[in-house]
Amino acid sequence: MKVVIVGGGSAGWMTASYLSHVNKDIEIVLVESNEIDTVGVGEATTPYLMRFFESIGIKDEKEWMPHCNATYKNGVLYDSWDFVNSRWWHSFEVDEHKYPYWDKLRQEQGLDRQDYYLSTMYNSHIAMRDSAKWMADKDGKVNVPYYHSRAFNGWGQHWAYHLDSGLFGKFLKNRCKDNITHIVTNVNNVSINDDGIEKLETDTGDIVGDIYVDCTGFSRLLISEVSDKPLTSLSPYLTHDKAVVIRHDYLDKDTEMRPRTRAKCLSSGWYWDIPLYDKLSNGYVYTSSFISDEDAEEELRQEIGYERTKNCEARVIDIKTGYYDETFKKNVLAVGLSAGFIEPLESTLLFVIQLAGIRLNNYLNGELSKEEINEEYNSNLQDYLDYISVGYYLSHRNDTPFWRYIQENAKISDKMREWIDDCKEELQPPEQGVLFVDSSWISKAIGFNLQGSKDKKFRTADMELIKSQMQHVKDFDYSSLLSQNEYLKRFIYE
Ligand code: FAD
Repeated sequence: MKVVIVGGGSAGWMTASYLSHVNKDIEIVLVESNEIDTVGVGEATTPYLMRFFESIGIKDEKEWMPHCNATYKNGVLYDSWDFVNSRWWHSFEVDEHKYPYWDKLRQEQGLDRQDYYLSTMYNSHIAMRDSAKWMADKDGKVNVPYYHSRAFNGWGQHWAYHLDSGLFGKFLKNRCKDNITHIVTNVNNVSINDDGIEKLETDTGDIVGDIYVDCTGFSRLLISEVSDKPLTSLSPYLTHDKAVVIRHDYLDKDTEMRPRTRAKCLSSGWYWDIPLYDKLSNGYVYTSSFISDEDAEEELRQEIGYERTKNCEARVIDIKTGYYDETFKKNVLAVGLSAGFIEPLESTLLFVIQLAGIRLNNYLNGELSKEEINEEYNSNLQDYLDYISVGYYLSHRNDTPFWRYIQENAKISDKMREWIDDCKEELQPPEQGVLFVDSSWISKAIGFNLQGSKDKKFRTADMELIKSQMQHVKDFDYSSLLSQNEYLKRFIYE
C-alpha cells in the first residue's frame, strides 16, 4: 500500500510522522512545494497534543518544546464576548461535580459569575489573574492538586501548548523524513479516473499511489478534483472570512508570557493573543463586509499598541471557510485546512488533524470504513460549529454595525436551541460530542449568563468536600509560583 501525502504544513508532517511510526507496512511519500508557503500563524492547541507526541515516541516536553518556540496554555480567556469588558474562562479542567454546588451558592449568596472560574478551577484561578505564572513552585515542581483526579475525555493532562506551526512542521520533518520518501516539487495537474486520482503530474515527473492525502491547505488541490459537491458554506452560522496577523517582541517576558490564549472581541470580529517563547502572536479575525483590511490592521495595531508594532509587518490571510461533506472521497482523504475550516477560535484544527491520522491508520488496518471516517469528521465539525456559533448567538453586544448584525442574524442549530432552554431550567451540558467536555459547555453557559434556577440535592459529604476544595482554590497563594518564562528557561529550554 502506497500513501501519497501532498503538502508539507502541519497537516502533512503530522500525518507522515504518525503513519510512519505506527504502521510499518505502508510506503509513504510526502510531496511539498518550496514555492507555496504554509499558513503558520502562531497556533494554540488542546491537551491532546501531548498524546500525539507520545504516539510518535516523544515522552518529554524538553524534546520538542524548544524546537517549536512552544509555551503552555491553561485555557482560553474570553474577553468582551457577552458585553464589553465581560470575561469568561474556558479551562481544560473537568469540574462538573462542582458547578451545581456553585450554582446553589450563587442563588443563596448572589455570587458573581467570575467566582465560578476563580473558585472552582485551579488553572484559571492562576491564569485568569494574568499574572504570567506557571503551576510550578520555586523548585520547578509542577503542582497538580487533588481535584485534578478526573480526566479530560480520558486524558489526564490539563494543559495544552502554544507553538509556531512552521517550526513544528520542520521539527516533525527532521524526525521522520528518513523513514519516508520526501519529494520537493510542484503538483501542476491532478489526473482523475472513476476510482479517484490516477496520478499527480509534477515538475519532476508523475507520482502514483493507492491513497492520496490532501494536505494542500486552502488550495484543496486534490479533494476539489474528486468531490461531487463544492465546499459547504458556513453561512448563515458564521461570517468571518479574513485575518490580519502581527508578531511582535515582548517588553517583559516574566509578566507577559501568560499561559493562556486570549480571545478578545473587537469592532468586527475578535483577536487572539498567543504568547510564543520568542514573540507574541496576534491576529484579528474579521468579516470583510464590515471592515476593510486597512482598518482591521489599524484596529489591531491600536489594540496592541502602535509603538510596539511600528516595525512589525502585518499579513492578511483569506480564510476560506467551509467544509467538505465527504472528506474521504474515492481514493482521497482531505486532512487539515483542505478538509475544512471554521474559524480559529478554540484552536482545534491541529487536534482534528491528529484524529484524521488515527482514523486513516484504522482504515488502512481494516478497522474503519470511509463512511465511518466521514461520519466521525462531520460529527466533530458539527460539535465545533455548535460550540462557536452559540457564543455569537448568546452575546449581548450591539455597539458596532457588526455586533448589531449578529444580534439580529446569528443562527444556531436546533440542538443548541434546546440546550439553551434546558440551561434556563438547570445548568447542564448538551449531549456529549468528542471535541468539548461537559465542563467546557458549563463554562460557556456561565460566561454568557445562562443560569439554571432549580435547586440540586446534595449529600452533605459531597457539599463539604466541594466547599473545602473551592476554598482551597480561592486561598491558594499564587504569588509563590514561578513565572512561566522562568520555568521554561530553567526546566525546559536549558
Ligand atoms: P498549510 O500550512 O497551508 O500547508 C499547505 C502545504 O501544501 C504547503 O506545504 C504547500 O507548499 C503545499 N502545497 C500547496 N499546493 C501545492 C502544490 N500545488 N504542489 C505541492 N505542494 C503544494 N490551528 C490550530 O490548531 N490552532 C490555532 O490557533 C490556529 N489558528 C489559526 C489561525 C488562522 C488565521 C488560520 C488561517 C489557521 C489557524 N489554524 C490553527 C490552523 C492551522 O494553522 C493549520 O491547520 C495548520 O497549520 C495546518 O495547515 P495545513 O498543513 O493544512 O496547510
